[in-house]
Amino acid sequence: MKTYFENIDLKKFDIQFTDNEKCLKFLSQQKWKEKYVCRKCGSTNFCKGKTPFSRRCTKCKYEESATANTIFHGCKITLKKAFKIAFLVCDKPEISTYELSRNIDIRQMTCWKFKKKITKCIESRTDMTKFQKDEIKKMI
Ligand SMILES: [Zn+2]
Repeated sequence: MKTYFENIDLKKFDIQFTDNEKCLKFLSQQKWKEKYVCRKCGSTNFCKGKTPFSRRCTKCKYEESATANTIFHGCKITLKKAFKIAFLVCDKPEISTYELSRNIDIRQMTCWKFKKKITKCIESRTDMTKFQKDEIKKMI
């Protein structure tokens, strides 16, 4: 499974992902690492979108945010916290949601839901940025 967090330990993680913006930047770098392709028309030309680190197709104007089609899309918690859960679960898949809840200071139920998504992602060996919207919906 290709996780984002290979070669990153907790110390490095906390230094690198200090705010939501850093997480967005990282996500956008990961999802368009090979190249940008518009999901609507297939064009590879883009310009900056309205939200931070989003991209807008110059041909059909379709805008894709950094989180769209990733497991972080539509998260109720902040991206920074969601990243931390993803990191901790990738690092130690058996971590309990109670431990996560204490560690990140969010409700256990929320941790449980999000952990389920990540686990599914690990099990299916799917890149966290390569989801289609309906696949993500099915996971919840
Ligand atoms: Zn397009």
